[in-house]
Amino acid sequence: MNDSDLISLEKALHQSPENNLIRILVADELLKRERLQESEDHFKVVLEKDTDNIPAKIGLAKIYFSRKNFSTTIIILEEIIDSVDRNPELLVLLSKAYLNNKEQAKAIEFYQKSLLINPSLTDPQLDNLRKPSHASDISELVGSIEENLRFEKPKITFDHVGGMHKVKEEIKIKIIQPLQHPELYKAYGKKIGGGILMYGPPGCGKTHLARATAGQINAKFISVGIHDVLDMWLGNSEKQLHNLFELARRETPCVLFFDEIDGLGASRSDMRGSSSKMLINQFLNELDGVQSSNDGLLILAATNAPWHLDPAFRRPGRFDRIIFVSPPDLTGRESILKIMLQEKPTNQIDFGTIAKQTDGYSGADLMALVDRAIEDKLRDSFEKGIVQPIMTKDLLSQLKSMKSSTKDWFVSARNYALYSNESGLYDDILDYLKIKK
Ligand code: ADP
Repeated sequence: MNDSDLISLEKALHQSPENNLIRILVADELLKRERLQESEDHFKVVLEKDTDNIPAKIGLAKIYFSRKNFSTTIIILEEIIDSVDRNPELLVLLSKAYLNNKEQAKAIEFYQKSLLINPSLTDPQLDNLRKPSHASDISELVGSIEENLRFEKPKITFDHVGGMHKVKEEIKIKIIQPLQHPELYKAYGKKIGGGILMYGPPGCGKTHLARATAGQINAKFISVGIHDVLDMWLGNSEKQLHNLFELARRETPCVLFFDEIDGLGASRSDMRGSSSKMLINQFLNELDGVQSSNDGLLILAATNAPWHLDPAFRRPGRFDRIIFVSPPDLTGRESILKIMLQEKPTNQIDFGTIAKQTDGYSGADLMALVDRAIEDKLRDSFEKGIVQPIMTKDLLSQLKSMKSSTKDWFVSARNYALYSNESGLYDDILDYLKIKK
């Protein structure tokens, strides 16, 4: 935003002093320009009326950090960190505040947590901290990872996930009901255990649904990006993986979600190093519950490239349910859009029309569409000094410059489905593409 935009924002605020949305934008812009006192004043005005306002608290934490008031930064961030959906930038800020406050263990803890969510957000000063130099450091760090991963308790449920009926149903039957009625399953001699593997183009709700599964049954949620674990803990990954499972077993009911699972289960024959094989075997042992019981543990995994997965993963009791998560269909798109616009200022949106024009869009694409329309409306609202509702035409006009992001995925998926479709594993892809089997 340039200075003249800021001036018009300030004018809009002058006209609508009650509008917290505008006040926070003004305060954020002032903060970016290091006009700390003015920014602080605005954030405090917001908090006077709305004591739980998270963006204002984040703003204040940043201001206190700039002023080197680290203990206040920590107090503010600790209070909100669980409710901001594991925002990696804030985790790094909290970590730095702890570091400056001479609380190293805490600094490491929050830095690790942020790296697990976004490995690219590295910080040289904090990196120095986490390089394990001898054995005791390693166990300390492993311990800190356990701490980090403990917290998430998702507030979203299946109601926040549009479409995906088939996957929801599978999750209910295969993992939620056995958890809630183990005796019934035992009476029928049905074995409980194993996980569900979801595959499909990126952005179609695999992670979102895994998180909602935990919220649905009030369970804890641990999300693990396999690549992160591998990269961060080179040479120590088996132990790390075991720790993860043990942690989840201690925290049941718990949904343990593995993203990019193909990174771990790449066909063993492709893997040259024996260490990778050991890691896969470790994972399979954990999945089988060889050493400890997996009761109360729900295991979900996702991949964009199921064809790279070792077939050993698909054996009964492991990921014996493999579900294709397609881009949302017409009604799916309609309900996703409704969910996304639920609490926003809108005016008689014709969801059906937008759904019709977004064939092939992923949930993430729809979110980008909604975000863009909102940004435009915000700009409009500042200029007019009054909140402008989002309308059908605003969404439709964004579509002109957007396209679905799932097409590329189907180019390679089609080939696998046509030429390496052992026992009809990828029939769902062929059905989606309307290719005759
Ligand atoms: P994937 O794990 O399949 O790559 P994500 O679950 O990360 O995709 O989806 C990205 C974002 O798109 C989610 O955070 C969510 O906001 C939105 N989204 C995707 N699918 C849905 C859906 N079915 N209902 C509601 N939101 C969705």
